[in-house]
Amino acid sequence: MSRKSHAIADRMRLLDASGIRKVFDLAAKMTDPINLSIGQPDFDVPPAIKDAAIEAIRAGQNKYTQTEGTFKLRSLLEQRCRAEFGWTDGKAYLVTSGVSGALMLAMLTLVNPGDEVVFADPYFVMYAHLVNLSGGRPVPVNTYDDFRLDVQAFADAITDKTRLLIVNSPANPTGAVYGERDLRDLAEIAVKRDLLVISDEIYNLFCYDQPFVSMAAVYENTLLMRGFSKSYAMTGWRMGWCTGPRPILEKMTMLQQYSFVCAPSMAQAAGLEALDTDMSSYVAAYKKKRDMVDSVLGPAMGLVKPGGAFYAFVPAPGGDATRFVAKAIENNVLVIPGGVFSTRDTHFRLSYATSDEKLRKGLDILVGLAG
Ligand code: PLP
Repeated sequence: MSRKSHAIADRMRLLDASGIRKVFDLAAKMTDPINLSIGQPDFDVPPAIKDAAIEAIRAGQNKYTQTEGTFKLRSLLEQRCRAEFGWTDGKAYLVTSGVSGALMLAMLTLVNPGDEVVFADPYFVMYAHLVNLSGGRPVPVNTYDDFRLDVQAFADAITDKTRLLIVNSPANPTGAVYGERDLRDLAEIAVKRDLLVISDEIYNLFCYDQPFVSMAAVYENTLLMRGFSKSYAMTGWRMGWCTGPRPILEKMTMLQQYSFVCAPSMAQAAGLEALDTDMSSYVAAYKKKRDMVDSVLGPAMGLVKPGGAFYAFVPAPGGDATRFVAKAIENNVLVIPGGVFSTRDTHFRLSYATSDEKLRKGLDILVGLAG
C-alpha cells in the first residue's frame, strides 16, 4: 500500500539514474576490473594543496565562510580573470560546492517552467536532469559523428522559448574542444537572440592540441564556471566557482545562502594554493594517455581524436553500445554506454584516467572484442 507519508514530489519523476546504475550494478560483480569508467583523475591532490587544507583545519578555519566564498579566494579569482580576459570592471564571483553546485544554482535561478535550454548532444548528464528539475525543457543538439560545435544546428534549435545555451569545452563525454572561430560564431548568434551562455570549463586545464579558449573571452553575456575537482583531483572537496552578470550572481548567491550555505572552508583555503600550483606535468601525462587511446582506437574502432578532458567517445561495433558494453564488462573492462549521455546509444565512453598499464590492457581487450 502506498503511504502518503512516503510520497515523493512529482518533480523527482523527471530524474532517472537507471542507465549508469545498471553499469555500476554490473561492475559490483567484477573482481579487480579494468575500470575505464571513472570521471576523475587517477593522481592524488598535489602535496602542497593537501598541506594547505590541513593547515587551515589546524588554524581553526572550520567555520562557515561568507556565502559567496572567502574574500581572499574571490580576490585571487578576480585577479586571474583580469589577467586572462583583460576585464577591468568589478565582476561578482561566487565560490560553489563544485561546478555541480554552480549548475544547480544557475538552473534554479534562470529557468522558468517551459523554458528551453540548448546544449550539444552528447552531453554531461547533469544538464538534462537539472533543466528537467527546474521545469525547463532540455534541447540536445546533435553533434555526431565528429562532435564539433555545429553552430548552424545550434542556431536552428533556438526558439522564442530558448532561455540559455550551455557550452562545455573540453567536453564530457566526447573530449571535444571548441576553437575560437566556433565560439565567436556561437557568440554572434547569442548576441542576435540576446541569450545567456553557461560555459562549463571544468576541464580547461586538459586541452592538448591548441591553447584553451574560453567562451567568456569572446562573449560578455557568459556565466563562466570552473572547478577544482578535475584540475587538482579534488573531486571530494567540492569546490568550484562562477562569475558573470552581477544580477544573476547575486540571486545565485542568495540561493546558495539557503541551500549549500558555502563551499567547504578548508577547501577554499587550499584553493588559494591550488591556483598557484603548476599542473603541467600531470596534464602532459594525460596527453600521452590520450595519444595512446587515439593511436589504438583511431584505426581499430574509428575513434575521432579527442582534444581534451580525459575521455574518448568511441563508436560501438555494430552501433549498439549497451550490447558492446555488456560484452566488455564480461571481459572485465568497465566502460559506459553512450545512451547515458545522449539521445543515441551508438558509442561508449572510455575514461583514460588510469594507469598506463591498465589502459593498455583495457584497450587490447576492447580491440579484441571489436574484431
Ligand atoms: N561539468 C562537467 C562537464 C563534468 O564532467 C563534471 C563532473 O564530472 C561536473 C561539471 C561537476 O564536477 P564537480 O561538481 O565535481 O565540480
